[in-house]
Amino acid sequence: MIFIGGVNSKVREIGPGELETCSHCSKESYQIIKESYDSFSLFFIPLLPFNRKIFSSCSNCGTQKAISSEQRTYYRDLAQLNLLYLNNLIEEKEYFLRKQTLKKPQ
Ligand SMILES: [Zn+2]
Repeated sequence: MIFIGGVNSKVREIGPGELETCSHCSKESYQIIKESYDSFSLFFIPLLPFNRKIFSSCSNCGTQKAISSEQRTYYRDLAQLNLLYLNNLIEEKEYFLRKQTLKKPQ
């Protein structure tokens, strides 16, 4: 029996994060929150994602910055909420109510 498998690396964009001054280009721009992960695949079907990392990428120059595991949930939830609002899937009032419930860890 022959098995065809391997390890693939993927990056997916979650959504826009916060407006920050970039440490590289010094411009105030939105940070794009992205997730990278590796996964085993068997017969070209991805299985078992592992080595998940979340990072931000400057929307002006593309410089990437790691996000700590303590802040991962906050940035992922913020990016998903911003994306809902930008795509007009939630009203402005609901957006600000939900945003108030997000707490940024120090
Ligand atoms: Zn930048």
